[in-house]
Amino acid sequence: MSSAAASVIRTWAVPVPARKAKVPANYRAPRSNAKHLALRDDQPAKVYFGAMTGPAPLKARSIGSYAKGCLAGGTALPASGATWQVMRLSRNRNWGHPELIRFLEDLAQDAPALGWRGLLVGDLAQPRGGPMLSGHASHQIGLDADIWLTEMPNRTLTRQEREDISAVSMLKGPMDIKNADRSVDPRKWTDSRARLIKRAASDKRVARIFVSPAIKKALCDFEKGRDRSWLRTVRPWWGHHYHFHVRLACPKDSKGCKNQNPPPPGDGCGKQLTYWLSDEPWVPKKPKTPGKPTKVVKKKPMALAALPPSCKQILTAN
Ligand SMILES: [Zn+2]
Repeated sequence: MSSAAASVIRTWAVPVPARKAKVPANYRAPRSNAKHLALRDDQPAKVYFGAMTGPAPLKARSIGSYAKGCLAGGTALPASGATWQVMRLSRNRNWGHPELIRFLEDLAQDAPALGWRGLLVGDLAQPRGGPMLSGHASHQIGLDADIWLTEMPNRTLTRQEREDISAVSMLKGPMDIKNADRSVDPRKWTDSRARLIKRAASDKRVARIFVSPAIKKALCDFEKGRDRSWLRTVRPWWGHHYHFHVRLACPKDSKGCKNQNPPPPGDGCGKQLTYWLSDEPWVPKKPKTPGKPTKVVKKKPMALAALPPSCKQILTAN
């Protein structure tokens, strides 16, 4: 590709049908609204990737790492299936590597047998992956998915409802108070949720699942069987009490996809979890000096140059 071509994001390369000519069956309207945005290495990558409205029409490939990469050949999870519904459709973040889409369809299919009517699916990735204009450091290579801890209702939600409905927190109360009870609210948390996460964590395609430490504790208590190996995949993390986050391992077809190191051995229900449930990570150490504003260090957005070089081709492919 010439450098001139590479420096400009072109519209979807579909020949404009001649006047009066029949529109070919495979005609697709331009899918990128970022035409003529010049690609500059020093510019925030999220501006470019956030402007992409359609996938890069290439062979499916996750490129780079979960929080620094992009996606070729993205596939959309259909907005509704028999046992799933995608939320926040306006965000256009229901894209992923085909393996992620298959995984979600499989999990959704298994849900009813676990006592869970179906999935409400949150963000996956943008059509071409990459950093987003809001939220999420990861979700960049089409292998991450947020699944709500709220059960799918017994009807198809309207587009508007999918924008408006809020997920429900599983926590008893705030985590950042001294001696807080950092556990799940038994009025909200159910074994069906535990079974759903266990099913996801037991899937060979899954590398990690992120949940609130309170949920991790509930899962540690839930498993009464001898085989606790699935618990290793479930990791305590900040947030993640409205939804759980599934991360797949790099698919075989994805050269240049970087796996994370596997989680430490063991079920993760011991010392590490005790730490997560203590005041230590949550309660600020020093009392704030009155009148002295806390310094907020704003992180600079990731520049386009920080991504793998092939991500530029993902932006210009059409
Ligand atoms: Zn997430």
